[in-house]
Amino acid sequence: MTRKGQINELDCRTAESMVARYINHTLKTDELEEFLDHIEHCSSCYDELETYFIVNKVTQQLDEQEDGSTLDFQSLLEQDIRKSRRYIHNRRCMQLAGGTLTILLSGILIIFLVFVIFEIKRFW
Ligand SMILES: [Zn+2]
Repeated sequence: MTRKGQINELDCRTAESMVARYINHTLKTDELEEFLDHIEHCSSCYDELETYFIVNKVTQQLDEQEDGSTLDFQSLLEQDIRKSRRYIHNRRCMQLAGGTLTILLSGILIIFLVFVIFEIKRFW
C-alpha cells in the first residue's frame, strides 16, 4: 500500500529490502530519509519493520539475559525512528554549516588576495 503522487518515493520492495539495513544502521543519510518517509505512510512496510525490530530486540534481550521485564517494543521502535530523524537533521545541519563555512572562507580569501594585490600595486 503506497500513497501515490510523490516523485522520489520508494516502492515497497525497495523499502522492505532496506529494513535489515535500517536495523543495523547501515543506511546512508539519503536512503534513511527515504525509508522513513516511506514507512510513515505505508502500514505494510511499517509492520514489516516492526516485526523485524521486535525479533531483533528479543534476540538482543535473550543475549543480554535481562531481568525478565517486558520491553515496550512499540515505543522502542518509535524512539528509534525519532532518533533516526534527529540523526538526519543533524547530518543536514552539519553539511549546511560546512558548506557555508567553505563559502565564507573562500570569500575572505578572495578579499584578502584583492587587498594584497592592491597593496603591492600601491608600493610599485
Ligand atoms: Zn511500502
